[in-house]
Amino acid sequence: MASMAHLQEEKLRLQEELLGLQEKLAARENNELSRSLQLQGQVETLKAKLLEQAQEISRLRSELQGGTDVEKHRDLLAAENERLRQEMKACEGELRELRQQQQAPCRDCVHLQENAGLQERLSQLQREAEETRAKLAELDLEVQQKTNRLAEVELRLKDSLAERAEEEERLSRRLRDSQETIASLKSQPQQIKYIIKTVEVESAKAKQALCESQSRNQYLQEQVGMQRQVLKEMEQQLQSSQKTAAQLRAQIMMYEAELERAHGQMLEEMQAMEEEKNHAIEEAFSRAQVEMKAVHENLAGVRTNLLTLQPALRTLTHDYNSLKRQVRDFPLLLQETLQSARAEIGQAIEEVHNTNRELLRKYRRELQLRKKCHNELVRLKGNIRVFGRVRPITKEDGEGPEATNAVTFDADDDAVLHLLHKGKQVSFELDKVFPPQASQEEVFQEVQALVTSCIDGYNVCIFAYGQTGAGKTYTMEGTAANPGINQRALQLLFSEVRSKAADWDYAISVSAAEIYNEALRDLLGKEPQEKLEIKLCPDGSGQLYVPGLTEFRVQSVEDINKVFEFGYVNRATECTNLNEHSSRSHALLIVTVRGLDRSTGLRTTGKLNLVDLAGSERVGRSGAEGSRLREAQHINKSLSALGDVIYALRSRQGHVPFRNSKLTYLLQDSLSGDSKTLMMVQVSPAEKNTSETLCSLKFAERVRSVELGPVSRKAELVSWPSQEHLEGESLGTAASPGRGHTSSSPGQLSGRSASIRRKLQTSGKLRPVPV
Ligand code: ADP
Ligand code: MG
Repeated sequence: MASMAHLQEEKLRLQEELLGLQEKLAARENNELSRSLQLQGQVETLKAKLLEQAQEISRLRSELQGGTDVEKHRDLLAAENERLRQEMKACEGELRELRQQQQAPCRDCVHLQENAGLQERLSQLQREAEETRAKLAELDLEVQQKTNRLAEVELRLKDSLAERAEEEERLSRRLRDSQETIASLKSQPQQIKYIIKTVEVESAKAKQALCESQSRNQYLQEQVGMQRQVLKEMEQQLQSSQKTAAQLRAQIMMYEAELERAHGQMLEEMQAMEEEKNHAIEEAFSRAQVEMKAVHENLAGVRTNLLTLQPALRTLTHDYNSLKRQVRDFPLLLQETLQSARAEIGQAIEEVHNTNRELLRKYRRELQLRKKCHNELVRLKGNIRVFGRVRPITKEDGEGPEATNAVTFDADDDAVLHLLHKGKQVSFELDKVFPPQASQEEVFQEVQALVTSCIDGYNVCIFAYGQTGAGKTYTMEGTAANPGINQRALQLLFSEVRSKAADWDYAISVSAAEIYNEALRDLLGKEPQEKLEIKLCPDGSGQLYVPGLTEFRVQSVEDINKVFEFGYVNRATECTNLNEHSSRSHALLIVTVRGLDRSTGLRTTGKLNLVDLAGSERVGRSGAEGSRLREAQHINKSLSALGDVIYALRSRQGHVPFRNSKLTYLLQDSLSGDSKTLMMVQVSPAEKNTSETLCSLKFAERVRSVELGPVSRKAELVSWPSQEHLEGESLGTAASPGRGHTSSSPGQLSGRSASIRRKLQTSGKLRPVPV
């Protein structure tokens, strides 16, 4: 019982103990609960911290993102640096250019301006570099701040980790205590076991909670590890960005060094330029000094000159003053001089006047004398002129030695020509000689005085004499482009008549005739083949006339051209070969000028006979027969007769054999008296024609060389040699009058001829051939 009671007591104690334990347990549970709550709170705070850290991490990440911004900024800086480098290069290029320019001497202000610009640019660059440096410093500061913040975060993390470690330590300690308590409780009776069990059960729950908290702790540790990882990465990033920043800093340093160098170079170049400038200034200065020296020397020279000039100036001033005085006195002096000069001039004029009067008187006397002399000369020369004209070598002369020129001229004497014949040179003197180059105009100039004299009532004959092809027709007729004497003579007559129209009435008429085989034909008539006769005027005046000879009144050059054309056509229709025919006949153009002086009623008649003679070549000797021989004989006869007549006229023979040919008979009144005759002897210069040229020139010279005087007058019975005789003469000798001349037949001096001659000589002014 006692034991029972004891047991009961025990039981009660135990119950009490159990109650106490239960209380303790409850308290512990409460403790546990509060602790778990506390732990939960701690977990909550840790969570919050974690969240905070996550936020911090995200912030840091964003900051790290900002690190990419830093990178961007770095890139920008790199680009800026690149640009700066480019600019540096450009600067270097410019500097190089500047250096090159400086090598060539240049002191232009343009370069100085460029230099200033470059300096400005350099300072700008420096400014920019300064700004970049400031930006870099800012960035450094930022990085520093971020590093500090990171260190703080790390510190905080470390603190929280330490805290947590402590907490864990504490928790594990408490767990160990609890486990020990549970183990001690387990060693108690069944109830306790039960309690223990419950406690175990409860502690299992606590364990589970512990486990959970451990797992959570694990998770948190992982998180912290991750955070550490992130932190490490960030640290790495920070390191790399620091490295980049360092690199950038190094680059900047480099650029700065380059800039420094460029600046140094520029300074050097500027220095060099400065030196050059100074050198140039020095040079210029020395040059200027030299020049100045020269100028000084000049000045000294000028000074000495001035010193020497001063006396000269004094003398000049003196001269000037005297001149001034003279000028002042000049009008007076001039007046005096003028008066005396006037008196002298008056006297001189008077003297000159007297002398002039005397001279005039003498001149008039001289004129009279001259006129007398001229008249005498004309009388002596018989009014006959002989000209020679040499045609040029033409294509017709062919080529080779036969066509060579055999005629030469005297440069000093236009009346002389030389002919080379059979190796000998023969010289001839005529009144005038026209060389081949003489123009139609030049020839006409020599002839025109003769032409105009027919207006004054003189009779004129112009003959063209020479072998066929020597230029007779060319001289008389000419060509359309270059007319000859015929046309020019008529034109001149027209213009002369026109100029005298105020006082005179003139009528010009023309006839054209041809003498072929001693037959006279009218070239302007209706029947050209009809032979005309030359008759003596029945009025007993001794004048000759040609009945039926057509005479055309012409008033203009056109009229003449028509007449010429008409005559030409008539002549051409009458023969088969005009060229040949014309060379075998004499062609005559007879121009009659009749004038009436309206105031005095005086009448004049002049006749101009223009004769293109037949060829003078000696056909008869080359064995020609029949009609050809007859032609030749007629030509020979008429040309000889012409020579005879001219000779007789010029030698003033008593008898002139006009009637020996139709030609001379027809021209009788134009050859005799005070009429004028021109013989134009045409010759060819060709070697092959020298023989004929010689004959023609001999004929010319003979006509001309007739000497007048008592012997000539006596020689009135001496006749002109025939054409045949001409060639027999010795070469180059001028025939003396009468030498070699055959005597004319006594029959020529018949009573009839003598009477005609007498009549002609007494007729005075000739009358026109009545038509
Ligand atoms: P002729 O009448 O004496 O037989 P031409 O007058 O018919 O001779 O002349 C013969 C050639 O010579 C012609 O072709 C002519 O044009 C030419 N002739 C003659 N004389 C000259 C001259 N002075 N200048 C130029 N050509 C001339
Ligand atoms: Mg002719």
